Amino acid sequence: MVSRVIPVDPFDLVIFGGTGDLAQRKILPALFRRFCAGQWSDTTRIIAVARSPHGADGFRQIVAGSLQDLGHSRDTATLTEFLSRIDYVHLDAHSNDGWHALSDRVQEDRVRAFYFSVGPELFAPLAERIQANGLVNAKTRIVVEKPFGHDLSSAKDLNAILAARFDESQIYRIDHYLGKETVQNLMAVRFGNMLFEPLWNSQYVDHIQITVAETVGIDGREEYYEHAGAMRDMVQNHLMQLLCLIAMEPPAKFDPDAVRDEKLKVIRALDSVEPHHIVRGQFSAGPLGPSYREVVGNPRSTTESYVALRAHVSNWRWAGTPFYLRTGKRLVARSSVINVMFKDAPHSIFGEEAGRHANVLSIRLQPNEGITLRVTIKEPGPGGMRLVDVPLDMSFADALGPENQDPPGAYERLIMDVIRGNQTLFMRGDEVEAAWAWTDPIIAGWQSRGDVPKPYDSGSTGPGDAELLMKRDGRRWQGIKP
Ligand code: NAD
Repeated sequence: MVSRVIPVDPFDLVIFGGTGDLAQRKILPALFRRFCAGQWSDTTRIIAVARSPHGADGFRQIVAGSLQDLGHSRDTATLTEFLSRIDYVHLDAHSNDGWHALSDRVQEDRVRAFYFSVGPELFAPLAERIQANGLVNAKTRIVVEKPFGHDLSSAKDLNAILAARFDESQIYRIDHYLGKETVQNLMAVRFGNMLFEPLWNSQYVDHIQITVAETVGIDGREEYYEHAGAMRDMVQNHLMQLLCLIAMEPPAKFDPDAVRDEKLKVIRALDSVEPHHIVRGQFSAGPLGPSYREVVGNPRSTTESYVALRAHVSNWRWAGTPFYLRTGKRLVARSSVINVMFKDAPHSIFGEEAGRHANVLSIRLQPNEGITLRVTIKEPGPGGMRLVDVPLDMSFADALGPENQDPPGAYERLIMDVIRGNQTLFMRGDEVEAAWAWTDPIIAGWQSRGDVPKPYDSGSTGPGDAELLMKRDGRRWQGIKP
């Protein structure tokens, strides 16, 4: 089965921060891949904007170098064709100079998306000048990146800055986790099958584990991370979004506001987290590198590089079913997975010796995106009725053919959704604020108690207290496997 590429209409994409790390490592490579797939062509233009006075040719050389470094090698003709669609304007967001050059390059009567690949302190000057230069019309779209605020108050400020110039329907807040193939597949599995939804509640689900484990540290992001920590950097956005997709009620239709309304209800139904249901950790030195404190150059840093917590969605569906979330840097393996842990069968007809067996639905986001259902079967052979758990693997490549082995990356999908005007996989302003409203008291509690994160070895599964968090409830984490 060959995946269909549905071309999008010609558009103008303005990338503020075009020379930055995000633009070079994610946005432009994503555009290149979609270009190679034939999704956009003709008169589409990418206009990169940054402060450095590169000419268009100089900038194109930078892009060619970045693509090459990332292994996006293609024949020279394709690369030259792609680069010919890219223009460059240098301007400072705080100055009025250069905006005419930008306005001249943006065309009428087509989608014009402005990607704010810059720090949030530039949102206000950019929004103001985009409007002042007559660049806002019904086809204008604004794309903003995380971090969307540092707390509820700053998120409200950013929302107000954007709302003053643009309609909510024009604002695309990216959480790239939502662009992953498996995340959408999670919705397809839940709402496209009769099999799962009747069991998707506290009567049949014992608990849910959401793990986002990374082997990388915070190199290159020290200053940002020291003021953010894992709670703000990962839990408030990525893990929260995954929790929402697992916990939400079926929306009436697959429509942006219907989906986002249901996600918002989940966030609002979250109980506040008790201090003894949360574990903070900070990595120490080990074979993978120096300690967190050495990396940030602050021997007294109390910023967490790891969080594990038990959350509760207080509604009819999930009463009594805990959601365990954990994320950390410098862990044993890079692995993002959601495990839906079903309850044991109420009675075993096979007796005590058959052991306990429960179904687990594992939704792997990275690496090796895919979905696995662990089911119990009879161990083959003549040795009597011995039970064994085996995975029913719903790997897309096996089922759908090798051409689906390399599905579009999250940024590819999300940028094309911006152009198509589909906000389903983007966070709405009220969702972001609700997520901060849940996160802020947790962080305030740490601050008021002078909480110090527990050290954990680099390359481990995190602090021992995270195991205890589960053990106290008679449960245990699934392994963190690459
Ligand atoms: P960066 O420092 O590498 O790049 C910043 C860009 O902004 C540069 O192109 C710079 O020229 C431009 N810029 C800075 N000040 C400017 C001004 N006054 N006027 C015009 N242009 C200006 O940053 P980055 O890593 O690319 O990140 C950009 C944003 O995206 C940040 O808010 C970051 O938190 C967020 N983000 C980055 C990543 C990532 O992987 N790098 C991931 C998620 C979110």
